[in-house]
Amino acid sequence: MITTVNPATGEELEKYETLTKDEIEEKLAAAATGFEKWRRSEVAERSALLARLADVYEANVDRLATMCTREMGKTLASAKAEVRKCATLFRHMAKAGPAMLEPLEWELDDGGTAKGVWLPQGAVLAVMPWNFPYWQVARFLAPTIMAGNVGLLKHASNVQGCAALIDEMMKDADAPDGLFQNLCIKSDAIEAVLADERVVAATVTGSEGAGSAVAEQAGRLIKKVVLELGGSDPFIVMPSADLDAAVENAVKARIQNTGQSCICGKRMIVHADIYDSFTDKFSTAMKQVKAGDPMDEDTDMGPLSSFEQRDTVLDQIEMAKKSGATLLFGGEALEGEGAYISASILTDIDPDSDLMEEEIFGPVAMLFRADDLDHAIELANAIPFGLGSSVWTEDEAEKERFIRDIEAGMTAINQVLASAPEAPFGGVKRSGHGRELAQFGLHEFMNLKTVMLP
Ligand code: NDP
Repeated sequence: MITTVNPATGEELEKYETLTKDEIEEKLAAAATGFEKWRRSEVAERSALLARLADVYEANVDRLATMCTREMGKTLASAKAEVRKCATLFRHMAKAGPAMLEPLEWELDDGGTAKGVWLPQGAVLAVMPWNFPYWQVARFLAPTIMAGNVGLLKHASNVQGCAALIDEMMKDADAPDGLFQNLCIKSDAIEAVLADERVVAATVTGSEGAGSAVAEQAGRLIKKVVLELGGSDPFIVMPSADLDAAVENAVKARIQNTGQSCICGKRMIVHADIYDSFTDKFSTAMKQVKAGDPMDEDTDMGPLSSFEQRDTVLDQIEMAKKSGATLLFGGEALEGEGAYISASILTDIDPDSDLMEEEIFGPVAMLFRADDLDHAIELANAIPFGLGSSVWTEDEAEKERFIRDIEAGMTAINQVLASAPEAPFGGVKRSGHGRELAQFGLHEFMNLKTVMLP
């Protein structure tokens, strides 16, 4: 049994029975049969399914969003935006996907031609997290459908209601049998699924622990993995930046999804010349953030996704304080029901402390003073992660340095980093490897077959 809990109230929501070995076997068999049909489908048929899926998501925005808010606590407004973003991705893939599957062609120097054709490979296992329970799955599902692959979803335990609804949406969109199946299993059942020869690859979004466990096994089995793991993204503000815009967006970055996003700026690295004024304005704005009922459309920030997640964040704040950091304000569990926590700022963090090795998944900003551009880049790179980054400057030479020198998969200039259906998404270092979205995400689990022609 998996029991889901509403983090805003602590009340038990639902019990979900986990699959037995026989039921998992049935799903794997259905995936194999489904793949034999879907791999032969016309690209137009794949586009049509994606377009229907977009319609179904849009028709069910309220239901999907409500389930998400109840299960993991994000505000209803942001849950609705997430569902609509999935529909946008499905439509984008329906339209742009066919061109991404066009064969490639090369003229050979010694005569003859080589062609590259994109072929599907089989069942892909997706191990997914709770922080964007629809969007993270959509990033795997859209390319799975367009590629002609089939998908098996192992969703995070606390969002099993969202997982069941995704399954329902696929059925409502008339997806053929076996193309997508939800596996209601705990993480200890993943190993047997991945070991099955009918599963050809895996994609993981989540913690380093989950990513390395799956990747280690996949490595032994020589199965491909895409890993989208944690981040502790720098948010760099330089003297030429529009300070008010930078502050407003720094707050947005730290409180969106109650700080539980892999790509929101977590470490605010501010040039010494503007450090004091940034700190004043940022502190004032962060103190005004109100945590409250996520169902209320006016709430800034809901609870953390679970009581365990709140304990983790509180422990990380304690660890920071023990290693010499200063907690300017906040960072406290709020009284009453629900896994609420107040927004907070940490300063005086030792760049060599263990905290730099951690992803803080909560509304806690770490503030750093940078002496100059080189120091800002040095601080930005002084972590094991390399997912995203956000830089605030009007200086063109500085922008070029950030693009070249920040060790990250993505850099956003004068904006908060957000994923877009059209652009590749992914990281370097311990944030993982491979890309989602765009043609790069579509091609990850495809066989680029080389055909030699006379
Ligand atoms: P996890 O990484 O544990 O959960 C993500 C998914 O991985 C879930 O489906 C989970 O299943 C599964 N999983 C967990 N452990 C293993 C394992 N050993 N082998 C295979 N699959 C596994 O995240 P948590 O919910 O525990 O959050 C912990 C931390 O992870 C957060 O504080 C945050 O730092 C990071 N995180 C990062 C995310 C991102 O987007 N980069 C998203 C979520 C978390 P189950 O739920 O059943 O355990």
